[in-house]
Amino acid sequence: MFSQFALHERLLKAVAELNFVEPTPVQTAAIPLALEGRDLRVTAQTGSGKTAAFVLPMLNRLIGPAKVRVDIRAVILLPTRELAQQTLKEVERFSQFTFIKAGLITGGEDFKVQAAMLRKVPDILIGTPGRLLEHLNAGNLDLKEVELLVLDEADRMLDMGFAEDVERLANECANRQQTLLFSATTGGSGLREMITKVLKDPQHLQVNNVSELAEGVRQQIVTADHNVHKEQVLHWLLANETYQKAIIFTNTRAMADRIYGRLVALNYKTFVLHGEKDQKDRKLAIDRLKQGAVKILVATDVAARGLDVEGLDMVINFDMPRTGDDYVHRIGRTGRAGAEGLAVSLITHGDWNLMSSIERYLKQKFERRTIKEVKGSYTGPKKVKASGKAVGAKKKKTDGKGDKKKALAKAPTKRKTVNRPKAESLVSQDGMAPLKKRVIRPPVSE
Ligand code: AMP
Repeated sequence: MFSQFALHERLLKAVAELNFVEPTPVQTAAIPLALEGRDLRVTAQTGSGKTAAFVLPMLNRLIGPAKVRVDIRAVILLPTRELAQQTLKEVERFSQFTFIKAGLITGGEDFKVQAAMLRKVPDILIGTPGRLLEHLNAGNLDLKEVELLVLDEADRMLDMGFAEDVERLANECANRQQTLLFSATTGGSGLREMITKVLKDPQHLQVNNVSELAEGVRQQIVTADHNVHKEQVLHWLLANETYQKAIIFTNTRAMADRIYGRLVALNYKTFVLHGEKDQKDRKLAIDRLKQGAVKILVATDVAARGLDVEGLDMVINFDMPRTGDDYVHRIGRTGRAGAEGLAVSLITHGDWNLMSSIERYLKQKFERRTIKEVKGSYTGPKKVKASGKAVGAKKKKTDGKGDKKKALAKAPTKRKTVNRPKAESLVSQDGMAPLKKRVIRPPVSE
């Protein structure tokens, strides 16, 4: 029951209006401590209800009679526009019976319009670091009176190269009394560094560890012989599974466009989202998906960050994500707030070892599923190691000249340059980077 928290009655009224009955685990753990004014570092996945876990204590701090606003009192920094828009909606829903106003500052929107909004001084400012810094540099922003700073999806912000921007903005909020940092993963040394720089004696709440991820989601793999066979499996799934809305993930823009084209040709109502799409396309795709006019979205990881669409109950990994964290983020699109979901990864011979590394990382074994209507010849490696990886074919021993000569005769004179499509997720296209190794991503112009 939300009434267990010492929240203002106007907030409890909004919570009731939204039909939130039971707080989620992250809300139960974080709300009382946040209300005490403590700095918190919370590890909680997307879909766990983490937004309300910081928005409600924030509103509780700011609540009061209507007055002329002179200062921005709270700032929420997050990695992407979509997440910012969703967070604004959540803030507006919870603050509907208060006088608190929130403003949004993200890239891709009109700078002057944003500057005008800032002149009216919202109580809460929600934004992505890059654009907020631009306003700061233009003298449009004063953060000196900010009392509360929230860093949401801090691990993602680091992955996207925002570390310095975040620090700079945190330093601008020099008089803040409280900082709350949320991340989906426990992160690496970059996150630890940010935590020491930005938080004061924080309490660490680890609400969901990745291995408990998305309990309501069935996670399956279907083996495939090659990409064309993957397409057949995909079409079968879209035609035969029961789902409200589905998202298909690829690792490259080119593959996303290709699958989108095939689905359109089959008369599916579909949208495609990748880094080359402009803000208008993205908004349209997400709105149509939310309204239900479109049931299927084809997307790359970059484009799908922060996406929260109700009824998204099937995730298909056409390409396996390159890291366990990316897998967690993708699957986090479904099974949100305890709903049921299905996640199917399509696995060829080349995907197997990556898939098994992700299983190990998550400490989970995905269900092996065979679809007899589209069964191929590849069903997994003949032999697997204890790690789950395929036992590689033994290299032939060469006993000397004969073989060497043969090999030389076969060897091409020059190495061919292979023209691969550009990887959308900013990691090498070969993609077999070990999971434990932190992938350093260059900044993304999101
Ligand atoms: P989040 O992890 O904050 O992105 O939340 C995921 C979804 O769960 C959002 O659509 C929230 O509105 C919803 N949600 C959060 N907390 C609750 C709750 N206690 N009861 C029902 N739905 C919730």
